[in-house]
Amino acid sequence: MSYFRAEIEAMAGYTPGEQPQEGRVIKLNTNENPYPASPAVAEAIDAAVRRGLSKYPDATATAFRHRAAEVLGVDPDWILCGNGSDDILTIVTRAFVGPGQMLRLPYPSYVLYKTLAQIQGAKSEEVYFREDWSLGEEFASADGDPRIVFLPNPNSPTGTVIPPEDVLHLARQLPCPMLVDEAYADFAEAHCMGLVAEEEKILVSRTLSKSYALAGLRFGYVVAQPQLIRQLAKVKDSYNCDALSIAAATAAIDDQAWLAENRAKILRTRDRLTAAMRELGFATIESQANFTWNPHPELPVKPLYEQLKQRGILVRYMNYPGWADGLRISVGTDDQIDACLDHLRAMV
Ligand SMILES: *Cc1c(COP(=O)(O)O)cnc(C)c1O
Repeated sequence: MSYFRAEIEAMAGYTPGEQPQEGRVIKLNTNENPYPASPAVAEAIDAAVRRGLSKYPDATATAFRHRAAEVLGVDPDWILCGNGSDDILTIVTRAFVGPGQMLRLPYPSYVLYKTLAQIQGAKSEEVYFREDWSLGEEFASADGDPRIVFLPNPNSPTGTVIPPEDVLHLARQLPCPMLVDEAYADFAEAHCMGLVAEEEKILVSRTLSKSYALAGLRFGYVVAQPQLIRQLAKVKDSYNCDALSIAAATAAIDDQAWLAENRAKILRTRDRLTAAMRELGFATIESQANFTWNPHPELPVKPLYEQLKQRGILVRYMNYPGWADGLRISVGTDDQIDACLDHLRAMV
């Protein structure tokens, strides 16, 4: 006999990428930014600590929303903040999908969406990407009565992008909202932020974990029309963002010069990584994110992951049944990527 809900007993639970806590590994497995965050972040945290932590934080992260609103060109009441964008995904799932109802996601994509459906006692439906990384009309179909559709754009693990005009087209056909998960949009050529004002059904989530180098901080947000934000706000924990993360995230988004410089460095290294992996025989997909997806048409790649790990280089081995397996390699510094490539050259 179990005390737990059947859904919880039955599910496997989401397995995040390994986070070794000792310093020597070259960590290219969870798409963290290899560079330190803007120096303004540490100053803002120091100042917040000096102000004291005895009081509860601002429940709606007003300072962040005001600064982000200017950067994004929306109103502050179009923004809801979360303890990382995973918190946003949880809030959205809980708000839109009831037990037994259905959530739709593309395949292959971010595995967490399915886990969120399982926790909720909801069903999930996976729609395969087409050969050209677009999504067919079935992604926008009303069949099965979807309650929310998740679209990571750029997608993980592929790094591919659906153009905003296609996203708008899909959203307009859907009977339910679509959350465009833009965790990697700062590395891409296009994004969907401008669609939120055009189409009520489109919500866009972002995180400071990747492009702002703040994965350890936990801060993300969603942009949607205010009548949706008001409903989502009922679902969140009262104080889901703490005083230090609000101060830090506000300073981070304020430093757009840091973002532009960091982005340029990452894109240069990404392009070099892509070319080098193809030279090694991998079928590396052109990426618009801060990682590349590397299947190999002939060699089994799991042993490569294992050998790299033995040599202190951690990449992500991913196996998607019915699609492919491959190595997802985060764009590190040039030195880290060179070390990874040197080891791979000796193996393949
Ligand atoms: C990293 C990632 C997130 C989560 O970001 P956090 O803000 O760190 O929770 C969400 N979606 C996708 C697709 C990601 O890769």
